Amino acid sequence: MTLSEEQVLRYSRNIVLDQVGKRGQIRLLNSSVLVVGTGGLGSPVSYYLAAAGVGRIGLVDGDVVDLSNLQRQILHSTRDIGRQKVFSAREKLLALNPDITVSVHQCMLSEENADALVGEYDVVVDATDNFAARYIMNDACVRAGKYMVHGSIFRFEGQVTVFGGGGPCYRCIYPAAPPPDLMPTCAQVGVLGAVPGVIGSIQALEVLKILLDAGRTLSGRLILFNGLSMEFMEVEVQPDPGCPCREGTRDAVARPTYNGCQKGNRG
Ligand SMILES: [Zn+2]
Repeated sequence: MTLSEEQVLRYSRNIVLDQVGKRGQIRLLNSSVLVVGTGGLGSPVSYYLAAAGVGRIGLVDGDVVDLSNLQRQILHSTRDIGRQKVFSAREKLLALNPDITVSVHQCMLSEENADALVGEYDVVVDATDNFAARYIMNDACVRAGKYMVHGSIFRFEGQVTVFGGGGPCYRCIYPAAPPPDLMPTCAQVGVLGAVPGVIGSIQALEVLKILLDAGRTLSGRLILFNGLSMEFMEVEVQPDPGCPCREGTRDAVARPTYNGCQKGNRG
């Protein structure tokens, strides 16, 4: 693969970086990333990945755009209210960069479809606010040996890390989901829209570093962000010896028996 004149110009600020170059840019164009969730986190993540020239982006979301989303979910606009989020998102990403492919998966991530979806992509981004989906995603990534770039937000706070790559998985840190009634949602407690912008941008940067094999990722390190005091705290996180994600015990992560997600239009 060689870059066209137009691609050299479009990606010139990437290419001029020692850590990218033409080879790195070709690598990005040949890469694929699954972004689970096209909301507050998924918006900045997928926008930056599309802009950077990640060749194939998969979007998973079963929701439609609601007026109350627009305060933070900047991939969608007022005229998209009532539209499926994945189609609204794909339109914006392709308008930004028609050089890439955006595959839409108009569904929730589930035990039935997770292995098939995760298996199609190089890296997975956790941009969901759904705990059940996050555990399913984690287990599928552990089974497939894939990186999962995790982010979550809560009011003025957020956290971001990279699972896989020798570091812990989500279950190493949070072995089981809390009872649903103990977990308030953004709708209940609120979130300031720029907070997912900060966390999602860090997730996008981590994905690009993983794809480029550049720098040091957040594997083994959890960043806790407080937007009110504007502080970033780094916590070391280690694999739990009892967690099934540990090398050699991956099969212990229960494997679902069937696959299948209704796929929307591709391309
Ligand atoms: Zn683990």
